[in-house]
Amino acid sequence: MTTAAQLIRDLKAPAFSFELLPPLKGNSINRVFATIETLKDFNPVYINITSHRDEVVYSDIERGLYERKVIRKRPGTVAVAAAIQHRYGIKVIPHIICSGFTRSETEYALIDLNFLGIHDILLLRGDNSHKERFVQAGGDDVNKYAIDLISQINEFNKGIFLDSTAGEPFETPFSYGVAGYPEKHEEAPNLESDMYRLKKKVEAGAEYVITQMFFDNRAYFNFVERCRCEGITVPIIPGLKPVTFMNQLTVLPKIFHVDIPEPFAKELRKCKTDADTAKVGVEWCTQQAKELLNNNVNLLHFYTLMATQSIKQVAEAIY
Ligand code: FAD
Repeated sequence: MTTAAQLIRDLKAPAFSFELLPPLKGNSINRVFATIETLKDFNPVYINITSHRDEVVYSDIERGLYERKVIRKRPGTVAVAAAIQHRYGIKVIPHIICSGFTRSETEYALIDLNFLGIHDILLLRGDNSHKERFVQAGGDDVNKYAIDLISQINEFNKGIFLDSTAGEPFETPFSYGVAGYPEKHEEAPNLESDMYRLKKKVEAGAEYVITQMFFDNRAYFNFVERCRCEGITVPIIPGLKPVTFMNQLTVLPKIFHVDIPEPFAKELRKCKTDADTAKVGVEWCTQQAKELLNNNVNLLHFYTLMATQSIKQVAEAIY
């Protein structure tokens, strides 16, 4: 079976991919299908499905008392990936995160994915910044960083399980990519250190890098140049997100630790409605996409959360 990594390496023409989230707990999978229906005509090379851990939620019950609940707001990553593959025959890349999951839980997820014929995964640590919000997985049975998750997958690919028993050798090993941050990961002390960590992930077996969103292509070009100088030769796929809401001017930098360049920020500040914002967001994203494609980038990866219609407009303009 052709892996996502091979498809990415063999691309001959400008291509499209996107990430979507599993539905919120209680919502129908038809929401996911609706996103795919809107974007499938642009022939996605693959679709990524994010992964989410348990969170602590407090609800106000009475007289100032709060009830603490642990919930997973978006369960179902593996099932959603399988449903998409089954319904559309499009390659899927479910995310596997280690924060909030034990190594044993990860192993069971890998066994399920193997049975389902899904062998492309994106390996991530998972958001860890709100320690009070997210539930930690217990004991020593945890992977701390993405590199530790990679080690587990590499062992699994050899047919070696956590309890040291050996299974039948896998016909199809897992092929995986990792995340990269053109503007540095928020916790890294500096870009050199972050680059060092990225190189370790690639040396350990990551076959491609998908970047965090960025709004200034210089950040991406500089990052790629730096990676190449460090000997990171795998494809580095740019992640793009059209801005769609007025509050994202401040929310996106806060959550994702990315800059919004002043010429773009200036245009966004002039917007009086979300509709105005979405229009400016599509224009900016289209310009970014065109410049990337004109500079030998042949695959663009889009973040669809609350942006599906805008991505459709960008894709219509460039493909
Ligand atoms: P790592 O590579 O583990 O790095 C995390 C930090 O630790 C970095 O600062 C790194 O420099 C440092 N570091 C790495 N290894 C070591 C080490 N051995 N010792 C000390 N420091 C080290 N989050 C989700 O929860 N679910 C998702 O589905 C999801 N999908 C994403 C998809 C993409 C394309 C991207 C870019 C991000 C995604 N995220 C997701 C967010 C991601 O989980 C966070 O950014 C997380 O904080 C870091 O993940 P990572 O895999 O890059 O971590």
